[in-house]
Amino acid sequence: MIPTRSSDPAEVIVERQERVMIITWRDGHRSVYSFDALRRDCPCASCDDARSKRLNARNLQVLSGPVLKPGEVQVTGSRSVGWYALNFTWSDGHDTGIYTYDLLRANCPCEQCSDSTLSGARG
Ligand SMILES: [Zn+2]
Ligand SMILES: [Zn+2]
Repeated sequence: MIPTRSSDPAEVIVERQERVMIITWRDGHRSVYSFDALRRDCPCASCDDARSKRLNARNLQVLSGPVLKPGEVQVTGSRSVGWYALNFTWSDGHDTGIYTYDLLRANCPCEQCSDSTLSGARG
């Protein structure tokens, strides 16, 4: 039996036209994620590494390698990973990011959630 939590999605819609992913959660909350933000915040090890290097470097630079500018990011494929996560293939060919629903819910970009987010930066 699958436990039901507020961080379980009731519905996931990938809107390629609008370039957003919309998740409606079991508690009725609705989160809209832009592809740009999802690609930028890709949780895989290599992106994580690239981000921390970028943060340590004084001048904020865009990711090296084949990077898509904001406005160009497109999802070419999406699939569920078990019942706990989503995986996307991006138009730059990157596909190693596993976006858990916990992470997505915690990073809900809506005003309501941003307000209640603790401002303590990790690391
Ligand atoms: Zn990545
Ligand atoms: Zn929210």
